[in-house]
Amino acid sequence: MSPQMILAGNWKMNGLTAALDEVALLVASTADMASDVRIVICPPTTLLSRVSDLLNPAGMASGGQNCHIATKGAHTGDISAQMLKDAGASYVIIGHSERRMDHGETDGRVRTKAELAISEGLVPIICVGETLAERENGVAITVVEHQLSGSVPAADKGANIVIAYEPVWAIGTGRVPTNADIADMHKAIRTWLVGHYGSAGGEVSILYGGSLKPENADEILAVENVNGGLVGGASLKAEDFSRIIASGQRVQTIRRAAAT
Ligand code: PEP
Repeated sequence: MSPQMILAGNWKMNGLTAALDEVALLVASTADMASDVRIVICPPTTLLSRVSDLLNPAGMASGGQNCHIATKGAHTGDISAQMLKDAGASYVIIGHSERRMDHGETDGRVRTKAELAISEGLVPIICVGETLAERENGVAITVVEHQLSGSVPAADKGANIVIAYEPVWAIGTGRVPTNADIADMHKAIRTWLVGHYGSAGGEVSILYGGSLKPENADEILAVENVNGGLVGGASLKAEDFSRIIASGQRVQTIRRAAAT
């Protein structure tokens, strides 16, 4: 089976009740599209259950933006994978570079969270990506392989994960790597996944994230081994996000035709 095309919106710390209107608009504006694309929105936790109520009946999915390493207990202000699931989520973003930086999340913690998410029935979207200095020093692929080795669950936990390659310097900056650099990185990630999981590693979706916009989505999503995107700013408005989803749909249609 080829990897699923996934477009996941990461709302970060954005969105009040009024933002639910954008979710309703997104559901309405993507209703007529063929369903080759898995659409996911990861809102702030305050909106998660209401977003889930809008998305799940439409065959779309919601996700959390983080979860704790424990199932429950004395961890004021935290949220567990089980709670996200209970609020209707199917996915959880883990190890986003903003959390790695702001909350000192190590690869080891990312792996523990991802394993817990899997055991609670969530699909972890595990984020990796190099800094600008690492890219300029020519060590981007080595850095990402190292993050994968530390962050991806043990193979015996199953390959029901998603990887998001997000160069830190491309997030929210309007800068994106060249298509050739994206292709090289995604190929390296695919090779690593197949080494780790065997043939199941060929079915894991590898998303690109970092300034993915309606204007560049056709091009980036068509790069080999790019199986969707993790979208920040451009997922906040239904109009922008649905244009990116339409790009994903176009790419998937072409890939399906080429495979038959
Ligand atoms: C992100 O932070 O996951 C992201 C991809 O952000 P943006 O699309 O805004 O660069």
